[in-house]
Amino acid sequence: MHSLSKVIPAVVLDWAGTMVDHGCCAPLIALRRVLARHGFSAPDEHLRQGMGRAKKEHLRNLLALHGAATAVDKIYPELEHEIFGELQAHAGLIAGAREFAQGLAQQGIKIGSTTGYTQAMMNVLAASAARQGYTPDLIITPDQVPAGRPAPYMLYANALQLGVWPLWQCVKIGDTADDIAEGRNAGMWTVAVALTGNAFGLSSADTESLPAHQRQEKAEAARSLLRAAGADYVIDSVADAAPILEQIASRIQSGDKPRS
Ligand SMILES: [Mg+2]
Repeated sequence: MHSLSKVIPAVVLDWAGTMVDHGCCAPLIALRRVLARHGFSAPDEHLRQGMGRAKKEHLRNLLALHGAATAVDKIYPELEHEIFGELQAHAGLIAGAREFAQGLAQQGIKIGSTTGYTQAMMNVLAASAARQGYTPDLIITPDQVPAGRPAPYMLYANALQLGVWPLWQCVKIGDTADDIAEGRNAGMWTVAVALTGNAFGLSSADTESLPAHQRQEKAEAARSLLRAAGADYVIDSVADAAPILEQIASRIQSGDKPRS
């Protein structure tokens, strides 16, 4: 038997699609609206590619795909404005997220976090999460470090400020391929959530109303996308993460390392 926090000193959690905003809807709605205003239209699956990166980087990539890379500085302030407008409406905690975080805290495991949102956006989102009972020990945003995902700097900053090491005993949990890349680039264990985030891409109400066979198909597509990103584990939701931490702890104790 082990005390889990002796083996896993910290878990670093993503925000939208992992702990809040089931379906990662706020940034998608904001992007869709801003791009439509500038004459670009693209299917949601397309707009969701590259989600997880710093918002400006994500926008730059999308505009580049439309041959309009130079416009990013003009359009980005509009995207920020639209995201601020959507944050409150999509700030609800994902089912089981609060209980998972409470369990970590009870076991003495530090709770870090990273995101593609800016510090100013996180001020809004974190205040709402706190009112719902979730307050991580630390929030690091892309604008506080040299670069956001897939670079590992936000995770390094978490380790440094939480005072935890080694990174190969820490766990990153997120909903996008870039979350997984960030975790692997930092040398951490990675756990992907497939059904509550960007890969599945629907609110819980819209998920409920899908016919069972479509839900099944979408779920399988989301899982294989995150497996292909190289996640050590792919689960449905953060609500299922506690037993995975037990498995990771056992593997750490038997000398296993995360996928690099
Ligand atoms: Mg996310």
